Amino acid sequence: MARNIIVAGNWKMHKTVSEATKLVGELKEALADVEDRKIVVCVPFTALHALGQALKGSNIQLGAQNLYPADEGAYTGEISPRMLADVGCRYVVVGHSERREYFEESNEFISDKLNAALGQGLKPILCVGEKLQEREAGRQKTVVSRQVHECLEGIDVEEILDVVIAYEPIWAIGTGRTATPEQANTMHRQIRGVLRSLYGEETAQGTCIMYGGSVKPDNVDDLMAQPEIDGALVGGASLKAESFVRIVRFQS
Ligand code: PEP
Repeated sequence: MARNIIVAGNWKMHKTVSEATKLVGELKEALADVEDRKIVVCVPFTALHALGQALKGSNIQLGAQNLYPADEGAYTGEISPRMLADVGCRYVVVGHSERREYFEESNEFISDKLNAALGQGLKPILCVGEKLQEREAGRQKTVVSRQVHECLEGIDVEEILDVVIAYEPIWAIGTGRTATPEQANTMHRQIRGVLRSLYGEETAQGTCIMYGGSVKPDNVDDLMAQPEIDGALVGGASLKAESFVRIVRFQS
């Protein structure tokens, strides 16, 4: 089963609606010929509607950065998967380490979000990754395997191919310190092993596992050359057209 190759930008809390519209205008023009990989921009809630319109008919898909796991209700300040689908979202990031850390999101809550996203036909990008202390203690495989197991609770074999996993070592996010291609590949192999134990070989081989953590134009080619790395989740370098375009156009 051929795996999807996906390059996704995570804009975090950046860009007003007009700034966002300008950036996707540049991306649409510069990336119009790309056919062999999927391109996604995960943007702030406020820009979703405008970009849903701006990206119609293009090869760039829209993603959100969060959701609340209910269709509707008294959850002040929250956004449901149904609302995301309604404005043209196809993807949604769940379990980003910033949300795990600053908003104390547990694997159990992330699993609820993942199930809710799939229920509305959204493709969740599930982020997992170890902290620096955990890596220094040699616990990265245990920590990440547990995250994958617990976050995929309730997801069956028919659904897993709609889930994208992003391995993002926390010590590499926004720090300029990326994992080496070998370190990343080893962790991706570990994650694929967990998927194999849960869903079988064919499904594990078909699941897209992206790498995230200080991916830049000058390191993307080496990372993407690794056999287990199927794309990139890009924070800082997705905020400028020039760097994101170069990353999308990685050569492996
Ligand atoms: C991220 O936020 O998911 C990320 C990978 O950020 P950066 O590329 O800036 O490290």
